[in-house]
Amino acid sequence: MDFKLTEEQELIRASAREFALKYLEPIAAEIDEESRFPMEVMTKLAEMDWLGIPYPAEYGGAGADYLTFALVVEEISRSCASTGFTLSATTGLVMNPIYQFGTEEQKKQYITPIAKGEKIGAFALTEPGAGTDPGAATTTAVLEGDTYVINGTKTFISNGPIADVFVVIAVTDKSKGARGLSGFIVPKEAGGISVGKHFQKMGLRASQTSEIIFKDCRIPRQNLLGKEGQGFRIAMQSLDTGRIGIAAQAIGILQAALDESISYSKERVQFGKPISVNQAIQWMLVDMATDLAAARFLTYYAADCKDKGLPSSKEAAMAKLFASEAVSRHASKAVQIHGGIGYVKGTKVERLMRDAKITEIYEGTSEAQRMVIAGNILR
Ligand SMILES: Cc1cc2nc3c(=O)[nH]c(=O)nc-3n(C[C@H](O)[C@H](O)[C@H](O)COP(=O)(O)OP(=O)(O)OC[C@H]3O[C@@H](n4cnc5c(N)ncnc54)[C@H](O)[C@@H]3O)c2cc1C
Repeated sequence: MDFKLTEEQELIRASAREFALKYLEPIAAEIDEESRFPMEVMTKLAEMDWLGIPYPAEYGGAGADYLTFALVVEEISRSCASTGFTLSATTGLVMNPIYQFGTEEQKKQYITPIAKGEKIGAFALTEPGAGTDPGAATTTAVLEGDTYVINGTKTFISNGPIADVFVVIAVTDKSKGARGLSGFIVPKEAGGISVGKHFQKMGLRASQTSEIIFKDCRIPRQNLLGKEGQGFRIAMQSLDTGRIGIAAQAIGILQAALDESISYSKERVQFGKPISVNQAIQWMLVDMATDLAAARFLTYYAADCKDKGLPSSKEAAMAKLFASEAVSRHASKAVQIHGGIGYVKGTKVERLMRDAKITEIYEGTSEAQRMVIAGNILR
C-alpha cells in the first residue's frame, strides 16, 4: 500500500498553501468579522483552475483527481474555512450533479462559467421541514407544457444570496416519496426566485447562507437534470462527493488548530517555563496530532476510492464523521491551551472553534453519517 502523494499532488498542495498564505491568511479574520464573501478570492481560485479540480479542462476544470481536490480544500481551509467550504460545495454539490447527470449541453452551459469564476452556483436541497429527511420535501416542480413551474422554500442555502444558478431538488410526484424527487438546473434569471432570511451564523461567516423562495419560477423542460424521479439519487451522490470535501475542510481547520497550539505553547511562559513542557499540554497536542493523522488517512482513502471508481459512500461518511468530530473536540482544546487569550475575538483559535462545529452538521449531520455507515455495514 502506497501512502505517498505523487509529485504533482505535492506541487499542487504546496501552491494551495502558498495561495492561502498570500490571499486568505491576511483577510480571514476580517471577512469573518464582517461576514463578507471574498469574491476577489473566488476569481483568483478560478484563475488557478481550482473551482472544478476533478472535472475535465473542456468544462473549465483542472482535469485532476478527487485526492487533489481534497488537498486543495484542506490547505485553503487551514487559512479560511469559509473559502474552503465554498470551494468544496461548488465542486461537490453544484458541479458534481451537473457533471454526473447533465447532458453535454448542460455541462458546457453551466459547469464552465462556474469553473471560470464568472458565475456562482448553489445547491438547494434542505427545506424548513426537510433536513436530515430530504424525502419530506414539499417544494414542487409541475410540468406545464414544456415548462416546469417551481414553488416552495429552500433553507440554509450556501451562496444563496449571491448565486446565479441553483441545482434544485423538488417534488415531481408526491405519491412516490423520495422516489418522486427530481433535480433541476435553475438560473436566477428565470425569475420567481427571491432571497428570504439571510442567516447570521456563529462560524463560517464569510460564507453566505439564506433561504431561497421559489414562487412560480418557470424553467424550460430541458433544465431537468437526469430523469424525473432521480432527484434523491442525484442528491445522495452529490453529498457522497461533497463529504470528502467537508472531511478535508475539517482536516484543514484541525491542522491550523494544532499549528497555533504548538507555537503558542512554546512561547507562553508560566512557572518560569514554556507551558509546552507540561505533560498535560503535551498530551492535548499529541491527541490532536494523532486524530489529525487518522482523519487524513480516512479522507485520502475515501478520495482514492472515488478516483479508482470503487465504492466510496461509506468511506466518505466515515471520513467526514471522524474528521468533523475530531476537529470539534480539538478546536476547543486549542482554545484551552491558549487560556484567556484563546477566548478573545481576533485570536485565530477562537474562529477555528466556531468554524469547526459546522462540519458536524452540514452535508449530513454526524447522526446522518452514522445512518449511512450502518446501512452499509448491516447490508
Ligand atoms: C451553514 C450551513 C450551510 C448549509 N448549506 C446547505 C446548502 O448549501 N444546501 C442545502 O441544501 N442545505 C444546506 N444546509 C443544511 C444542512 O445540510 C442541514 O442543516 C442538515 O442536513 C441538518 O438538517 P436540519 O438542520 O433540518 O436538522 P434536523 O434534520 O432537524 O436534525 C436535528 C437533529 O436531529 C438529528 N436527527 C434527525 N433525524 C434523525 C434520525 N433519524 N436519527 C437520529 N438523529 C436524527 C440530527 O442529526 C440533528 O442532530 C446548510 C446548513 C448550514 C447550517
